[in-house]
Amino acid sequence: MAAKIIDGEAVASRIREEIKATVAEMVANNQSPPGLATVLVGENPASQQYVRMKQNRCKKVGIQSFGYNLPAETSQEEVEKLVSELGSDPKVHGILVQLPLPDHLDEEAVLNTIPLHKDIDGFHPVNIGRLTMKGRKPLFIPCTPAGVIRLLEEVGAEFDGAEAVVLGRSNIVGMPTALLLIHKNATVTICHSRTKDLPGVCRKADILVAAVGRPQMVKADWVKPGAFVIDVGSNRVDAPDTEKGYRWVGDVDFDDVKEVAGALSPSPGGVGPMTIAGLLQNTLRAAQIADEMK
Ligand code: NDP
Repeated sequence: MAAKIIDGEAVASRIREEIKATVAEMVANNQSPPGLATVLVGENPASQQYVRMKQNRCKKVGIQSFGYNLPAETSQEEVEKLVSELGSDPKVHGILVQLPLPDHLDEEAVLNTIPLHKDIDGFHPVNIGRLTMKGRKPLFIPCTPAGVIRLLEEVGAEFDGAEAVVLGRSNIVGMPTALLLIHKNATVTICHSRTKDLPGVCRKADILVAAVGRPQMVKADWVKPGAFVIDVGSNRVDAPDTEKGYRWVGDVDFDDVKEVAGALSPSPGGVGPMTIAGLLQNTLRAAQIADEMK
């Protein structure tokens, strides 16, 4: 049986339309539009591209974006000063510091400088701390993990009592995704580079989320028949037969796994668009919080 393919772009497009309508309504009511500040340090081409994509999407739904591109050698003090200023700028409702930062910068200290109510990436230690606790609610949920859960909901995954396996334990994807799955009452196993018998652990999963950054690592014989598989991975691989000379693939071997899984999100075209839609949702929510705080 071939898997149901989860169209992340279609879901994200619906979310963007809803946001656009809400922003238009805010502006019609003489409220200021939501504003997102992006802080990019250095010239990492992938980071530059992510920030451009985020800014373009903002414009399309009526969210104002303010871009700050700093040279790679910017000091800790200068980055923190900028983030603090943005923290008290009323036009800026959300602050996004594009990660990773150059090695000489202390990421945690920079993220700590973002006021909680502008932490639209959900990476502030207090927001993450709340995510780890039962009965507590972060102001913002990290965008990629939120996108993973939304895609699973879209295809009717049963969470209650399900065996969920998350491949990867990073702060921005693996760990918060596992926490969200626990909140949904799944029984969660988190795997990483030291996990023994990965295929065996994965085969037990009713829900399998792959976020390791290893091209096409998950094969059909790692997957329980009928499982819900979400591929977060986004890996550039050489493709000499193409015009560009490269292509993007996920952490899941799509052609192999689609014959076994019950539902499968492709990469590209699955979680990626959901991450940006989540960022727009969080920025809108930040503007609403700012309005409530007046
Ligand atoms: P990180 O490199 O921060 O984390 C990777 C995780 O995978 C680590 O926990 C690591 O283990 C684990 N890992 C690495 N290799 C193996 C292996 N061979 N077996 C088992 N576990 C392994 O990556 P991110 O979480 O930031 O990103 C993961 C993937 O998701 C990447 O492809 C990235 O491009 C993509 N991504 C996609 C997004 C989207 O919007 N679609 C957004 C963010 C990321 P350990 O902790 O032991 O080192």
